[in-house]
Amino acid sequence: MSCLFCKIVDGSIPSTAVYQDEFCYAFADLNPKAPVHVLVAPREHIGSLEETGEGDRALLGHLMWAAARIARDKGLAKGYRVVVNTGQDGGQSVDHLHVHLLGGRQLTWPPG
Ligand code: AMP
Ligand code: ZN
Repeated sequence: MSCLFCKIVDGSIPSTAVYQDEFCYAFADLNPKAPVHVLVAPREHIGSLEETGEGDRALLGHLMWAAARIARDKGLAKGYRVVVNTGQDGGQSVDHLHVHLLGGRQLTWPPG
């Protein structure tokens, strides 16, 4: 198994845990783009949003719920952004589905 985020999920590569449960593991981004930058990844290996299907609907909802819960825990009452980079054009660099939670500063739009 060579997937970086699978290794982070199973603990063989260290990370700073932010939240975890049966379905997902959330950890601090190593190269944060905002004061709060957390990645929420499913424990199960799924390559990207493009690889999800009907059977992943509940898991996808769970990842969004977890991001919102972490945002509340982090006190991001002024707002935040959740992003799922997907594939080459989407700027995805790690091929294990993850939701970025970004907050703690005014974010600009549109992203590059
Ligand atoms: P993406 O470009 O959407 O695939 O996001 C991958 C994210 O993973 C980037 O924001 C990286 O900074 C982050 N990242 C890469 N390696 C690690 C690591 N070992 N621990 C935490 N975050 C990482
Ligand atoms: Zn993986």
